[in-house]
Amino acid sequence: MAIVTSKEMFKKAYDGGYAVGAFNVNNMEIIQGICDAAIEQRAPLILQVSKGARKYANHIYLMKLIEAAVEDAEQNAGFDLPICVHLDHGDSFELCKSCIDGGFTSVMIDASSKPFAENIEITRQVVAYAHDHGVVVEAELGTLAGVEDEVKVSAEDSSYTRPEEVEEFVSKTGCDSLAIAIGTSHGAYKFTPEQCTRNEKGILVPPPLRFDVLEEVSKRLPGFPIVLHGSSSVPQEFVKIINENGGKMPDAVGIPEEQLRKAASLSVCKINIDSDLRLAMTASIRQYLAEHPADFDPRQYLKPGRQAIKDMVAHKMVDVLGCNGKA
Ligand SMILES: [Zn+2]
Repeated sequence: MAIVTSKEMFKKAYDGGYAVGAFNVNNMEIIQGICDAAIEQRAPLILQVSKGARKYANHIYLMKLIEAAVEDAEQNAGFDLPICVHLDHGDSFELCKSCIDGGFTSVMIDASSKPFAENIEITRQVVAYAHDHGVVVEAELGTLAGVEDEVKVSAEDSSYTRPEEVEEFVSKTGCDSLAIAIGTSHGAYKFTPEQCTRNEKGILVPPPLRFDVLEEVSKRLPGFPIVLHGSSSVPQEFVKIINENGGKMPDAVGIPEEQLRKAASLSVCKINIDSDLRLAMTASIRQYLAEHPADFDPRQYLKPGRQAIKDMVAHKMVDVLGCNGKA
């Protein structure tokens, strides 16, 4: 059985100058697409489940599907696929405990919106329970801006992680990895057009990531794994397919892949990618249905949807994360 914690994965990723991909899952096709790519690429893998995904698919279904993926890899691909099963954005001790009790090997406690002392207290509580059960904990310092924020990212330094806080936070909580805010953002609309410039093709270019903050954090926490959330790149070719096939996603924008590749080569050991998988799957399904208006068997469009997930994950592993061949 190769459901493991991220401890070894992160150590190797830190030393090897790459990052492990953390992909959000909520149904069978997504899990299969991601795992097929990981098997082919011989890549370590983090499958993460949000509170919403757990509500949608039910904890036990997701856990059994992931166990099935591990068994399938062993039996049919002859490969001991190492998968870390992680709770994304746990917002309470109870939720984290329920996932730990339910077989997850890693949880995130996100108390980043709380005051510093309270964040420390909640995180410490989760770490104590998790470590007692052989589970690792990701915590967060700093707040990721989203498109719904009224705040202008360029002028709002307080949303970035404050490097001067990280040593105290990590030593007092005992967390195993830390998500920081350096200018990434959740969703497919990471920045408003006003926050961006436009390139010659009229496509939005977001403000660059704050590598100075990442560097300062890494200096203060040598050897410690850093996590980036909100790190989809929102590839414009997929937005275009969606928009050409009945979709409506104007000005969707993400983080350029070169910047994520650079972060992966530094202390960032885990990069969360969710929106890009959604875009790939939706684009493929929209295109399929537009081209085959008479088809109505879900397998007909879910099959290319699953393939689109696999292709996107393989691309991320090889061209962005650098984790291919590392399992
Ligand atoms: Zn996140």
